[in-house]
Amino acid sequence: MIFEQVRSGGCLSYVVGCEETRAAVVIDPELDQADRYLALLTEKGLRARYLVDTHTHADHFSATRELGRQLNLPIVMHRRSAAPFVDLRVEDGDTLLVGKLRFRVLDTPGHTDDSTCLALSDRVFTGDTLLIGGTGRTDLPTGDPEALYESLFDKLLRLDDGLLVYPAHDYKGRSHSTIAAEKADNPRLQKRDRAAFVALMHGLDLAMPRHLTEALRTNRTGGKTVKQLIAEATRDIAFMSMDEVARRIRQSDPSLLILDVRARDAFRAGHLPGAVNIPRGELELRADQELPDPTTRILTYCQLGKISTLAAQTLRTLGYTRTVALDGGLEGWTQAGHPIVQEA
Ligand code: FE
Repeated sequence: MIFEQVRSGGCLSYVVGCEETRAAVVIDPELDQADRYLALLTEKGLRARYLVDTHTHADHFSATRELGRQLNLPIVMHRRSAAPFVDLRVEDGDTLLVGKLRFRVLDTPGHTDDSTCLALSDRVFTGDTLLIGGTGRTDLPTGDPEALYESLFDKLLRLDDGLLVYPAHDYKGRSHSTIAAEKADNPRLQKRDRAAFVALMHGLDLAMPRHLTEALRTNRTGGKTVKQLIAEATRDIAFMSMDEVARRIRQSDPSLLILDVRARDAFRAGHLPGAVNIPRGELELRADQELPDPTTRILTYCQLGKISTLAAQTLRTLGYTRTVALDGGLEGWTQAGHPIVQEA
């Protein structure tokens, strides 16, 4: 077996391949690491067959959609998953064949209603059902401590004691554990009485994950993250450096139209010399009136350089194909000592 654990902060994901056939599966891939899975598959000489999410993640962005699009691969999730883009819906007792490897699906609701574990002959991928020295939380959408109790005590902990446990999270740098070690030492598994376990789970006072809304919005629907939108816009346009813009301003270059896309108040408080203002929200509807020549060289800028990237992409989409964005925002411009002017 070819086995790679990819750590991204506290998130653990896996590339598991069949040594003989080179077929592989990617489990719980994270969006920020998308290129890393692709590189790993190539480096190890593997061909992915499936992309699996063990459950709907609420704390990070899944890469299954992005990788599925790039590699034209089926996305696998439990049949109860809300995500509309799942190609292969699985449930308890199903087996995924990946070359000579057989991944058995275990239905383990509790952390979420679509939580699954994937068992091989020597190891089990426990998602957020069982963590090293912990369990998944049950206070997020579709979580249920009663269901988690049953998934743990009636199913997962009845597996072979020697099985290696590979979870979807670990915040202390540990790579894996075993069923036996978790039974013996995991503090949450010492409450073998159902009511006591449920009370323990209800009593946990955990902070909400940082990107809860954005993670659920994108993971449940296949929608894009804000970072993805900006990354796509960045690929769609070209930029102009601050020094180049400063040089053109010094030379009073009439061929460059400098467009401030911030709100009107921010513009009045201080803007690049010679800039005109169309707030980003008004851009599409005012473009024809205010930017009559589509062959104009337009430079967009904003406070931090993100909105201006989106604005430049919009302008290019509209046909202003010579639009570029300032590489950086007004903040960086001022910090670099370049001039700004204020409205009287
Ligand atoms: Fe989770």
